[in-house]
Amino acid sequence: MAFDSLSEKLQNVFKGLRSKGRLSEEDVKAALKEVKLALLEADVNFKVVKNFVKTVQEQAVGSDVLNGLNPGQTVIKIVNDEMVRLMGSETTEIALRPGSETTVIMMTGLQGAGKTTTTAKLAGKFKQKGKKPLLVACDVYRPAAIEQLKINGEKQGVEVFAMGDKNSPVDIAKAAIEHAAKNGNTVVILDTAGRLHVDEDMMQELAAIKENVDVAQTILVVDAMTGQDAVNVAGTFDEKIGIDGVILTKLDGDTRGGAALSIRAVTGKPILYAGMGEKLSDLEQFHPDRMASRILGMGDVLTLIEKAQEEIDEDKAREMEKKLKKAEFGFDDYLESMNQMKKMGGLSSILSMMPGIGGSQIAEIENAMDEKKMARIEGIIYSMTPQERANPSILNPSRKRRVANGAGVDISEVNRLVKQFEQSRKLMKQMPGMMGAKGGKRGRF
Ligand code: GDP
Repeated sequence: MAFDSLSEKLQNVFKGLRSKGRLSEEDVKAALKEVKLALLEADVNFKVVKNFVKTVQEQAVGSDVLNGLNPGQTVIKIVNDEMVRLMGSETTEIALRPGSETTVIMMTGLQGAGKTTTTAKLAGKFKQKGKKPLLVACDVYRPAAIEQLKINGEKQGVEVFAMGDKNSPVDIAKAAIEHAAKNGNTVVILDTAGRLHVDEDMMQELAAIKENVDVAQTILVVDAMTGQDAVNVAGTFDEKIGIDGVILTKLDGDTRGGAALSIRAVTGKPILYAGMGEKLSDLEQFHPDRMASRILGMGDVLTLIEKAQEEIDEDKAREMEKKLKKAEFGFDDYLESMNQMKKMGGLSSILSMMPGIGGSQIAEIENAMDEKKMARIEGIIYSMTPQERANPSILNPSRKRRVANGAGVDISEVNRLVKQFEQSRKLMKQMPGMMGAKGGKRGRF
């Protein structure tokens, strides 16, 4: 997940602050110097970093913070609040026209940013909200893009309007809007053509669509992996055609995260959503406060709960929670929970939202849970008797040897799995209430 390295560095700085009862001005300055370095290393725009540190320093040193109770905690809170502000404070919704009026959304972006995928992901979000979106293939330069949109639209159960590559994007958009009016589609999403680099033809084409069609929202899709380039691209698009918001893709990857922290501050435009993977369900609404919390290692339990609500079968979850409480959680449940975790974006995605679990721990657990190893793990579990699966504590050395032979693995692998199982059990215990979150109790969160 993005931000792992930044997150870890900031948490180390904070650990230092918390460990001191009293803080001097020098302590704060030294800590903020480290914060500054961490942000710069995360590829945050240098002007943004400079302002950020200056503001935090003024607030932390200028007021009575240092004389108050728990100054370390207060400084951390100031950093948190400033980070939320940097990303725009409020969650920004895509503004739809009222009632039965049609909202035309124009998706723009460079080739490879993830525009076509994101367009289909977004359609899925509108569908979830009870809208009837229409996807429109306006990329007339790449027949593959039209095909990709059709396939993704079908997966999402959303209609795709395409006219091949012989008409102009403006004509396609106009025809699509007529079609939408007859068909009752109140949200029309135009997938426009990207280029490898910002170029004049592309800008003119987008401007022509805006001139001839009543576009309500122009959304730019940028790739978080490209760091400050993404920020520059956002600035240029806004200057040339005017954008209303940005969707940042590939935040699931190994990006340093600088784009997420700079775009709003540099361009003044909000980040609306974040792409968190290649699957069509991997799009999260962008909440500045939750993102700051994740970056600062304080977790993002609200998003976790929402994901659980979307993905998890509640009856099964309740049953599992009961088993957990009674310590009846066995290997069959382990397999079942692995399936649920996969649905929620994998273990690392869940762990990254848990308070207090940092980058290196995530990498460690992720490594242990590598997907390729999963098949072997399944093989081992299936070599156990039903009694052993239900009650792993009866797995003595001779049983383990039998299981290892059955699965064709070394006994050390069986030992490792049983140990991992115990670790997972502990982890699952740290998530009380989450699994049956809808209407259920929310545990200590
Ligand atoms: P376009 O040229 O901008 O339309 O880009 P595509 O939609 O074809 O996406 C380019 C590549 O990025 C594809 O392989 C997508 O699966 C991938 N992609 C898009 N969004 C995300 C994301 O949020 N995370 C990850 N990991 N990959 C993504």
